[in-house]
Amino acid sequence: MAVRIGVIGAGAIGKDHARRINHVLSGAKVVGVSDVSADNAASLKAEVAADAQLFATGEELISSDQVDAVLVTSWGATHEQYVLAAIAAGKPCFCEKPLATTADGARRVVDAEAAAGRRLVQVGFMRRYDAGYRLLKRVVDSSIGVPLMVHAAHRNPSVPEAYVTPMAIHDTLIHEIDVFRWLLNDDYVSTQVVYPRVTTKSHSKLRDPQIILLETAKGVRIDVEVFVNCQYGYDIQCQVVGEEGLANLPEPMAIQMRKDASLQTPIMTDWKQRFIDSYDVELQDFINAAASGTASGPSSWDGYVAAITADACVMAQEQSGSIIPIELPVRPALYH
Ligand code: NAP
Repeated sequence: MAVRIGVIGAGAIGKDHARRINHVLSGAKVVGVSDVSADNAASLKAEVAADAQLFATGEELISSDQVDAVLVTSWGATHEQYVLAAIAAGKPCFCEKPLATTADGARRVVDAEAAAGRRLVQVGFMRRYDAGYRLLKRVVDSSIGVPLMVHAAHRNPSVPEAYVTPMAIHDTLIHEIDVFRWLLNDDYVSTQVVYPRVTTKSHSKLRDPQIILLETAKGVRIDVEVFVNCQYGYDIQCQVVGEEGLANLPEPMAIQMRKDASLQTPIMTDWKQRFIDSYDVELQDFINAAASGTASGPSSWDGYVAAITADACVMAQEQSGSIIPIELPVRPALYH
C-alpha cells in the first residue's frame, strides 16, 4: 500500500516535492497539505495533489490517522516544532534543511528521536544523493589513497539584497558542511574564515567572497570559496587530493560547442537545476524507508552537527582570522 504523506509548507520546495511524490516517484501519495498561507495550500492541491485534504495546522495533519509520514517544507524557523510532533506521533518525517534554526533546537530533535529508539527523521541534505558526489565518494573511498585536502567552491551568479553575510554559512555553506563529512567519513574540529578583497557587485551587509577553512579530526584541510555574486553562473566545485591521486566532482552534463573560433560549454545559472535529480533520489529513499516505519539517509544527528558547525563558522566570520574550535557532544548509539 502507498505511504500516505502529509506536506507541511506548500511553498516552492513543498510543491515541487509533492509533484515528485505524486507524479515521478513510486510507493507514496500526498494525502494532506497544511500551510499558514491558505492560498499556497490550495495552489499545491490544485496543481499537484487534487485528492489531498487541507489541514488547518501542521499538528492536525501530523495527528491524522490518514497520514503515515510527514514532509516538513515550511519556513525554517517552524521545522523543529513539526519534526518533534512527528516523532511524538511515531511517524517518519522528511525535514528540509535546516533541521532547526539553532543547535539547541536540533539537539532537542536528536534527544527526542534517540528516546523514541528508532530512526524517524531524514534531513534534506540532497547532495548525498547526487550522482556526481556518489561517484566522487566511490573514488575517494577506493582509489586515491588517504584524503589529505579538499579544495571547493560554491558560487552563485548573484543573490537578493536580503542575503547578508551569515547567510553565506546558514544557506550556502551548509550543504558543503554536510556533504564533506559524508564524503570523508570524518568530523570537523575547527574552522576559520578569511575575506579576500570585496567584490564591487556585493552590498554593504554582505562580505563577498569569503574563504572558509575547515579542519577535520583525521587532519584533512578543506578550503571552500563561497562567492555568491560571481556573475558568471551557479558553479559547484570540489577536488579531493589524496596520497595517491586526486579526484574532481564531475561537471554537470552539457554540450560542448566549437563556434565563432571558441570552444564553449554552457554553465548553469539556476541553483534549482543543479541538483534536481538528487531530489528525486532522496525522496524515493525517504518513501522506501517510511514504508517500513523508519528513516534513512542524513539523520537528525547530521542536522545537529551541521548546526554546531555552522554556528562555529558564523563565529569565525565575526572573528575573521581566528581559529574557532568545533566540539561535538557524544554521539547517541542510535546514530553509530
Ligand atoms: P517558501 O517558498 O517561502 O515556502 C515556505 C512555505 O511555508 C510558505 O508557503 C510559507 O507560507 C509556509 N509556512 C511558513 N510558516 C509556516 C508554518 N508555521 N506552518 C506551515 N507552513 C508555514 O520557501 P521554500 O523555498 O519552499 O523553502 C522551504 C524550506 O526548504 C526552507 O527551510 C529552505 O531552506 C528549504 N529548502 C531547501 C532546499 C534544498 O536544496 N535542500 C531548496 C529550497 C528550499 P508564507 O508564504 O505565507 O510565509
